[in-house]
Amino acid sequence: MPVLTEDARAVARDHYLLSIAFDAIDAAPGQFVNIKAGSNADPLLRRPFSIYDRAGSVLEIVVRVVGRGTAWLSGCRAGADIDVLAPLGRGFTLAEDKRALIVGGGVGNAPLQYLARELRARACRVTYLYGAASGEFVYCEDAFRAASDDFLLTTDDGSAGRRGRITDALAEVLAERAFDIAYVCGPTPMMRAAAALLAPRDIAFELSVENYFGCGIGVCSGCSIGTTDGLRRACVDGPVFDGRAIHWESLEAQS
Ligand SMILES: Cc1cc2nc3c(=O)[nH]c(=O)nc-3n(C[C@H](O)[C@H](O)[C@H](O)COP(=O)(O)OP(=O)(O)OC[C@H]3O[C@@H](n4cnc5c(N)ncnc54)[C@H](O)[C@@H]3O)c2cc1C
Repeated sequence: MPVLTEDARAVARDHYLLSIAFDAIDAAPGQFVNIKAGSNADPLLRRPFSIYDRAGSVLEIVVRVVGRGTAWLSGCRAGADIDVLAPLGRGFTLAEDKRALIVGGGVGNAPLQYLARELRARACRVTYLYGAASGEFVYCEDAFRAASDDFLLTTDDGSAGRRGRITDALAEVLAERAFDIAYVCGPTPMMRAAAALLAPRDIAFELSVENYFGCGIGVCSGCSIGTTDGLRRACVDGPVFDGRAIHWESLEAQS
């Protein structure tokens, strides 16, 4: 079974970094892991987490503590066996030699670090907009800076970086510069606002949704959302979707 290589490490208020070593694994940016959080049958359902980064057969995740499963994970120690299914889902399209814009909100920045690194390895110029509610929730800032050519941090309360919403920064950047492709992950209202700014422009964009999952492997259809192609299961048809394909009302009803 995959094993935690070190104690779960606090990287911001309520946020923990976990490094999980597999015998062997191939995982792409935007895919996720589904973890049995707890040592007995309760909680029953696995908990999905984005792949924050990957070094060979070690996957890193960032866990924000919101309930029982995430609290349990935050207390895991080095050497713990992790009951995890991975990699799952459909990841981001990896552009090559493009002007890429990445926009993350809160813990939704998690899948975007591995993405940024892989895009730069493909000769993309990466502009990264990192949004958080407040400075105490900003995690792994140095790693995000190192993975991008331009990096802008905003916090809603101005306690770190520029004061304001990340979508305000997005509007400014889009008015000033051209991009070929954009990638977004964060709370549903933030993604909807970002999509409204991106959709009228001649720019491809993808979103990673984080609605509630049941089984995580496409069996229960509990995570289905409406798209221009009909109902799609976020766990197997996503979590990454074409930004123009999503019917926002259906996603909001699930968040
Ligand atoms: C594809 C995907 C990727 C994700 N990636 C990450 C990640 O990288 N890091 C991270 O910290 N979290 C991530 N999440 C969210 C994470 O799965 C949930 O926070 C986790 O399952 C909560 O488990 P819990 O037992 O601690 O909380 P519970 O006890 O189940 O719930 C506690 C509270 O959190 C709310 N909640 C639970 N799940 C969600 C959800 N999916 N969306 C919004 N609110 C929720 C509940 O309504 C409740 O209020 C992701 C979710 C998805 C679907």
